[in-house]
Amino acid sequence: MKTEFKAKQEKRGIDLVKNREWETQSPCIKELHKEGAKKFFEGIGNLREAFRPRPDIAVCMDEGTAMKKKEKGVFTWADTGRLFDKDKEKACEKAARVAIDLGLEEITSHEDCGVAKLAWKWDNPDEKREPTDKEVNDYAEDWTKKLAEKIKSISEEMGKEVGKEVKISYITAKEMLRPKDIHNAVGVYYDGTGKFNPGRLENIPQGFVISRGGLEESLGEETKDYCGQELGIACSIAFGDHGFSKKFSKKEPFTIMVIGKNLQHLEVLKREAEGFLKIHPDFKTGKIKIDGFLAPEGL
Ligand SMILES: [Zn+2]
Repeated sequence: MKTEFKAKQEKRGIDLVKNREWETQSPCIKELHKEGAKKFFEGIGNLREAFRPRPDIAVCMDEGTAMKKKEKGVFTWADTGRLFDKDKEKACEKAARVAIDLGLEEITSHEDCGVAKLAWKWDNPDEKREPTDKEVNDYAEDWTKKLAEKIKSISEEMGKEVGKEVKISYITAKEMLRPKDIHNAVGVYYDGTGKFNPGRLENIPQGFVISRGGLEESLGEETKDYCGQELGIACSIAFGDHGFSKKFSKKEPFTIMVIGKNLQHLEVLKREAEGFLKIHPDFKTGKIKIDGFLAPEGL
């Protein structure tokens, strides 16, 4: 009984925070849906500043880390590239090559990472329990250390300078741009440029960020499916217990904000996102919507 009471109390607490977060973003969400992503974003005076020439630092696609204010160029991936392959060694190899090709100087992991939790389960198939918070946090941190070593060894093999001194850092829940245990994303930035740094803009919708551009050079054919997997994860978090879930409606849908380099590119990526989402029940009912805008020319 006592635990049931505690669980109810916890849920009430979470709902209160969710309501507050939704209210805070409400004017912005309303404007986005009234104007559409094109008018909303292309009308931002300093939009160009949100696109950096190249990525220097990699963070998780989680809105709490991806939306944080950063001066550097940002590349986003789910749990620092762990999702590139179910096999840990293969994922590490792929992530290291992506990091070298992009010339990343810093890789980060973070506390309260939902993707690290998923990866922990992949690596521990015999465990029939949920991992503890500490296990998930340690997993995320250990993974970046393993990846940094791999980056260093591959870079030495290739005789490259880049990647020899890749910096590792850990972002705590307090430093993140969302409350712990709650996802306040109202959409996803499906970034075809791979250069979008939303932390440099103010009063924009809180969203997961998927760096779709910049991956193809290293991942090739796999890029599309990989980004589709990230898109699926973002939607499942948003519509799960930790996301806004029931607050999304046909009128105020969870929005995939595709970023294209030009009109044709934008249309291709929109169709790609639709291909991934068409069987999703919330897409069918209009609770997930695909919209988009163009990055400034000549990046
Ligand atoms: Zn994460």
